[in-house]
Amino acid sequence: MAYQSINPYDGKLLQRFEDTSEAQLEMSLQQASDCFAHWRHSSFAERAAILHKAAALLRSQVDAFARPVTLEMGKLIAEARGEVLLSADIIDYYADHGEAFLAPQQLQPAVGEAQIVNSPIGVLFGVQPWNFPYYQLARFAAPNLMAGNVVMVKHAACVPQCAEAFEKLWRDAGAPQGAYSNLRISHAQADRVIDDPRIKGVALTGSFEAGQSVAARAGQNLKKSSMELGGSDAFIVLDDADLDKTVEWALWAKMNNTGQCCVAGKRFIVSDKIAKRFLDKFQSGMAKLVAGDPMNPATTLGPLSSEEALLKLLDQVASAIAHGATVVMGGKLIEGPGAFMQPTILTDIKPDNPAYREEFFGPVALFFRVSSDEEAIALANDSDFGLGGSVFTSDIARGQRIAAQIDSGMVFINHPTWTAPDLPFGGIKNSGYGRELSSLGIHEFVNKKLIRTV
Ligand code: NDP
Repeated sequence: MAYQSINPYDGKLLQRFEDTSEAQLEMSLQQASDCFAHWRHSSFAERAAILHKAAALLRSQVDAFARPVTLEMGKLIAEARGEVLLSADIIDYYADHGEAFLAPQQLQPAVGEAQIVNSPIGVLFGVQPWNFPYYQLARFAAPNLMAGNVVMVKHAACVPQCAEAFEKLWRDAGAPQGAYSNLRISHAQADRVIDDPRIKGVALTGSFEAGQSVAARAGQNLKKSSMELGGSDAFIVLDDADLDKTVEWALWAKMNNTGQCCVAGKRFIVSDKIAKRFLDKFQSGMAKLVAGDPMNPATTLGPLSSEEALLKLLDQVASAIAHGATVVMGGKLIEGPGAFMQPTILTDIKPDNPAYREEFFGPVALFFRVSSDEEAIALANDSDFGLGGSVFTSDIARGQRIAAQIDSGMVFINHPTWTAPDLPFGGIKNSGYGRELSSLGIHEFVNKKLIRTV
């Protein structure tokens, strides 16, 4: 039984879940395939009604949905509620705009008539992570269901309650059997699902290693895939930035979801001229965080998602220090039960330190000083990742010039990289390929069919 709810606040086992058997898996694949045969012919209005119902259920039961997030992976309860509402917004967004996004496109050929029509391609398989247990599912399921595809999801093994709640949401919203299926399967079974001829596309959010494995399998089968992998986003602070506001955003960028965000600010690249003042304020903000029960609204520092996640992060910090990094603050676990890590700032990280290239998934900030905009851009780009990034400055044109030179899928000016239903999300380099959300997200898994009349 790999699928277990363990509360990372106190290490207690909450619930064990049966794995999906081979027979159940085969039944789910066939149900999904049968469902696609009629769902693809349903009208946009019919699909939109189900999506709107799902969004309304999330909103009306926000506390019931938020609770298992906090219990299973330790997200602060207010953030868990925010995630439920964001997921509802995403679902409503596609219900409202999906039909227009997929409207046939008239072409102007030299001779005759031509149009591109967008048709669904079939059953899609999603592999999803624990860090945003509903948001990740919403941004995969909503556009694809609206497009007429059906989805099967292998969620992370540590959030089975959330996975089940989200599957039930679709049943309660009136989606037909097979439109959304939750699978509690192993990595080997996931490979076989990707091989299955009934599966037509694969989407994964997770680590680089998971992406390599799943993308390779999809590639062997010549199946379209999209990959949203990790990041090591630069948070660039120029000498003319409004320091107080920037530090507030820096704290949020680093500590939202206890630092377990693919687009968290991970490398703080600060102009020499204000580096000391920035670091002092940032450090004092980090020092004010109060560790405790993430169910308690007064808590501002939750646990990491699991004991393993804490041990991995501690190893990374120890290795960074062994290779010459200086600890500005933190660096250790917080004694007592629960997977708590001290808010940590590391500096003096040279290119030969493994930390220079790694993703730190937790409350660990890497701090760098630079003496020019060019140096900031070069450092930001000296990364294997290319997901997001941000630039803080009072000169918007200067910020935009820098944003244009950063090699990543998203750059925000005067705001940490973040997400909204109408903004595309995704990266380049080892951060993956493809885009989710916005009009782009609904076009990833459709057949752009040319219909030509001569
Ligand atoms: P993983 O990438 O291992 O897990 C994410 C999802 O992928 C889970 O559902 C997992 O299943 C599944 N998975 C992993 N390997 C395979 C495989 N070979 N075949 C099929 N499915 C697979 O993330 P971890 O939870 O282990 O976290 C490790 C690191 O990954 C983090 O420290 C962080 O750096 C990065 N990460 C990035 C995320 C992002 O938002 N971009 C999200 C999560 C992690 P199962 O749970 O069963 O192993």
